[in-house]
Amino acid sequence: MTEPLPPGATVGILGGGQLARMLAVAAARLGLHAHIYDPDPQAPAAEVARRQTVAAWDDAPALSAFAGAVDVVTYEFENIPPAALDRVGALRPVRPNARALATSRDRIAEKAFLGALGLATAPWAPVTDGIGAAVARIGTPAILKTATMGYDGKGQVRLDDPAGAEAAWAALGRVPAVLEGHVPFTAEISVIAARGLDGTVAAYDPGLNLHEGGILRRTTVPAPVPARLRADAVLIAGRILNALDYVGVIGVELFVTPAGLLVNEIAPRVHNSGHWTQNGCAVDQFEQHIRAIAGWPLGDGTRVADVTMENLIGDDIARVPAIAREPGAAIHLYGKAEVRPGRKMGHVNRVLRGPAA
Ligand code: AMP
Repeated sequence: MTEPLPPGATVGILGGGQLARMLAVAAARLGLHAHIYDPDPQAPAAEVARRQTVAAWDDAPALSAFAGAVDVVTYEFENIPPAALDRVGALRPVRPNARALATSRDRIAEKAFLGALGLATAPWAPVTDGIGAAVARIGTPAILKTATMGYDGKGQVRLDDPAGAEAAWAALGRVPAVLEGHVPFTAEISVIAARGLDGTVAAYDPGLNLHEGGILRRTTVPAPVPARLRADAVLIAGRILNALDYVGVIGVELFVTPAGLLVNEIAPRVHNSGHWTQNGCAVDQFEQHIRAIAGWPLGDGTRVADVTMENLIGDDIARVPAIAREPGAAIHLYGKAEVRPGRKMGHVNRVLRGPAA
């Protein structure tokens, strides 16, 4: 399918979390239907999507029926089992493509891909059969990260002393991992970019990210880093998008160091650090992603305001009535009934002022 999807066509979304919820709303705004696939009938996207398939990730007939009912398939998280993606991919175009997912869901494949592109990362070594050689090569301090299934700082252990290496790996279950040298970064930034079906690339202004306990707390745009680095970040994202023949929105997280930018990780989807675009741009990352996968022209992502995005995590949700009284605060809640520590319940975009002329 290379023709743009017409109004009334259906976008299938694997996963029904908050990212799918915001993608479904964007699809509806463009006159498209969203059909989500998630085992949880209470998934945050369920109440805003036209249809939901409630089925397990290994339910082959359900996956085939889902694919048969949609025109294009996308996904909102990278831990989709590859077999599920293969099954829907046999019937419908999957965007971003399976290679983009495979490259970003496994840190070993991701780092190898970035290295082959000539992009700088933290020094790293794979940990598969044993950890000794990796520690000898990378030294300490270092961070041991599981190759797959890590998110929000989960699946990571800091290693300060080589003597603790075996115990650190055991704590992660001796699963395949990467050992990364600890990077003395001065800031963390990310760039959200998109590539259309025709190969057009568009990037949003990079944002400055602040993490607490491994979870994104706040994103600020513009990122207070030199213009040269902001341009580098955008160029790096473009190289990654082209190399993967990517269609859709990508999030690229970078460390700012005195020697320049290092790529931390790539997310083949809309990204939490891009939520500011909902109130800072004419076309936000969710509409941009739907446009891209639907074969539409990319929209205008020029930043029209300075914005700080704050995640509302766990009990932060209790602050919503007070935030609702703040001038310039746009509230986005995910409709999650159960509040748990560390659970992302929503976010607020504080629109500060227009960018300097
Ligand atoms: P990640 O899941 O890889 O994004 O890591 C979560 C957070 O841990 C990052 O946003 C950083 O704040 C920190 N971190 C990860 N890798 C490194 C590293 N190699 N050096 C220093 N800090 C790191």
